[in-house]
Amino acid sequence: MFRLVLLGPPGAGKGTQAVKIAEKYQIPHISTGDIFRKNVKEGTPLGKKAKEYMDKGELVPDKLVVELVTDRLDAADCKNGFLLDGFPRTVFQAEKLDQYLEVKGIALDKVIDISGDEEVLLERMIGRRVCRACGAPYHIKNMPPKEEGICDICGGEVYQRADDTEETVRNRFQVYQKQTMPLIAYYEKLANIIHIQSAGSPDTVFASIISVLGV
Ligand code: ADP
Ligand code: ZN
Repeated sequence: MFRLVLLGPPGAGKGTQAVKIAEKYQIPHISTGDIFRKNVKEGTPLGKKAKEYMDKGELVPDKLVVELVTDRLDAADCKNGFLLDGFPRTVFQAEKLDQYLEVKGIALDKVIDISGDEEVLLERMIGRRVCRACGAPYHIKNMPPKEEGICDICGGEVYQRADDTEETVRNRFQVYQKQTMPLIAYYEKLANIIHIQSAGSPDTVFASIISVLGV
């Protein structure tokens, strides 16, 4: 059983690793980015508010995020652990999370910080494309679809996420440096943070994560 947080700059592959970790340790994968994107797609009031910030690469206001996550952590499937992906992202969110866990008498087991070279991550993200229908990921240079703009798997439209344009990606990095990087020092003090390099294939990165977590 693990209570985990995944931390890292945009494009470091948190989502990819999160899916693998959640599967291996049989814990729910809670991605605030995914929750917001789902709300945007469904046009909910939360989605409408979140979209304004997301499209610019800004963070959604803390107030809207914290309650969403703590409500999710109250669900029965989080009793035996959870993996938070993309939360906390500010020191305020981390403090709120700590308060929540303290009241419940539980604590985080590990914070996994995946880091990478900014220029490499930028290149990765600006070239990133995704199928609108099935979500399959592509990359214009490294993994283009066989036919431009068309998904190999389902024939759906391959497009660029509004927050993957160069301008927005550069802003997301600045936001990460200003608002999320301070969390590394915050968790360093609690002595339960591990650092993983995002260079290498997803399988290599996953191997280093499980070697630290064990079993
Ligand atoms: P990435 O880590 O690649 O930037 P995510 O999918 O985690 O992408 O997040 C996408 C966007 O959703 C963020 O740029 C931000 O606007 C919003 N978001 C996600 N998680 C949070 C959070 N914990 N606090 C504030 N905004 C968030
Ligand atoms: Zn598809």
